[in-house]
Amino acid sequence: MQSPKLSIILPVFNEAPNLVKMHQELMVTLEKLDTSFEIIFVDDGSSDGSFDIVKQLNQENNRVGGISFSRNFGHQIAIMAGLEKAKGEIVITMDADLQHPPDIIPKLIAKHYEGYDIVNTRRIDDESISFFKKITAKYFYKLINVLSDIQIEAAAADFRLMNRKAVNAFLNIPERDRFTRGLVSWMGFNQAIIPYQARKRFAGTTKYSFSKMLRFAMDGIISFSVRPLKLSFFVGTIAIIFSFLYAIYAIFKYFWGETEPGWASLLISVLFLGGMILMSLGVIGEYIARIFNEVKARPLYFVKDEVKSDQL
Ligand code: UDP
Ligand code: MG
Repeated sequence: MQSPKLSIILPVFNEAPNLVKMHQELMVTLEKLDTSFEIIFVDDGSSDGSFDIVKQLNQENNRVGGISFSRNFGHQIAIMAGLEKAKGEIVITMDADLQHPPDIIPKLIAKHYEGYDIVNTRRIDDESISFFKKITAKYFYKLINVLSDIQIEAAAADFRLMNRKAVNAFLNIPERDRFTRGLVSWMGFNQAIIPYQARKRFAGTTKYSFSKMLRFAMDGIISFSVRPLKLSFFVGTIAIIFSFLYAIYAIFKYFWGETEPGWASLLISVLFLGGMILMSLGVIGEYIARIFNEVKARPLYFVKDEVKSDQL
């Protein structure tokens, strides 16, 4: 069987009210294209019956397929699983909540045919994105760009086209803590970026809780930089130098007979050094936790159910 030209990958976590509309809009756009395609929903352990809807869409439309994880493994892992399933020569990943407008797809493809292996997108911020998200994203990417050797756009999204070459390269990266946009930036190839106007979520609320965002940010920084490790060494060294200076000062005072009760200063230096030590240990702990994760080499996800598009 000939492989379809285009695969659309949609990670889904409790998006039941969005799926029919998402599918409908995708079909309107894709049917206008002169290419064969498949739509793959990756259900990331939803508990709201999202996968029942995927099954139903699969019954009605032989171009729809999907897999369902045994539990919630996370957005980045869902993207990975979708890329593993995809058979297309061109693969597009996008959110299932309609924030990534399907009508941008022809633009992504046109850009690809200009000679790019990877076409990234940049969100044009408007009222559809919360103030909190804009601000945190801005400073997070500033930090990541300072700390690491890769450069990532503040308004980057996991709405992206990759050709087969790039997908295969991506699948060859064995890392467990997967920060997709960092890995893609790091991969190289010919990359382009096009802007899009983000829409409001069609239904439901964000599936990125604060703790998920924090973990995502930590993965981004730690998997692309060893500078925090070096930083704790640097800050620790400065602290030691200061405590030496302070010791000289204390001895000087002692011999001039101006001994003070000294409790406050003692306490401050103990707290300061204690803080430094804990911070450094914390930084090291974050790295060790990730090494531990890699060493265990567990599968990235388990599939509990699957429906296939007949294009697969
Ligand atoms: N998502 C997922 N697993 C998760 C969290 C989110 O597969 O653990 C999916 C979600 O269903 C959506 C996409 O990832 O299709 C982006 O998530 P969301 O729209 O909640 O993030 P936001 O747009 O608020 O950053
Ligand atoms: Mg969203």
